[in-house]
Amino acid sequence: MDKKYRTILLFGAPGAGKGTQGKILGTIPNFFHCACGDVFRSLRIDNELGRTFLEYSARGELVPDEATIRLWRNSIQGSQSLGHFNPQKDTLVLDGIPRNAEQAQMLREALDVRAVFYLTCPDFNRLVERLQRRALRENRLDDANLNVIRHRLETYEKETKPVLDFYGKDLVHSIDSTESPINVLREILRIIATLPA
Ligand code: ADP
Repeated sequence: MDKKYRTILLFGAPGAGKGTQGKILGTIPNFFHCACGDVFRSLRIDNELGRTFLEYSARGELVPDEATIRLWRNSIQGSQSLGHFNPQKDTLVLDGIPRNAEQAQMLREALDVRAVFYLTCPDFNRLVERLQRRALRENRLDDANLNVIRHRLETYEKETKPVLDFYGKDLVHSIDSTESPINVLREILRIIATLPA
């Protein structure tokens, strides 16, 4: 890759509201939202990686890194060829990737990370409740089962949280995700407005 993508990361536990914020940010001109989970869900079940995704996500585990990064690269290159994402002008809003320190390392050459928005939620039950509410609305099998939800939250604590250390505290902005979406958005936008061009 010749040039790094100017990037902001949405970070936080499943159910913290990364997708909600990412979708809104993606509607702003010159911001392009990419949610790794959505890329996986766009695969077909007769595709080998589609089946792998189903197998891992149904258990609440992460899909292996090599396959994840390869899929993500293809997807982002596809968005560029279609003209949806222009890295010369656009800021990439990543949601759900990198999801462990290895992925962060693998993406080091590709991403110029300007800020990490860490949507915090100290209340475990609130996350569970949000995920369960989403299960039917968004047809998410991995949100329907309480054991799978618990395992995803454990995976997040063990494997995903170290990504924060990878980027370091100067880049990480903690935002209370128990605030209303509009207040979370306001805080994200306030910080984005202070980032150098
Ligand atoms: P949530 O943030 O609620 O867990 P996602 O849609 O981001 O939802 O992820 C759903 C599932 O997709 C994860 O549990 C995992 O199996 C898989 N997945 C998504 N992103 C990644 C990634 N970067 N690396 C590995 N697996 C991933």
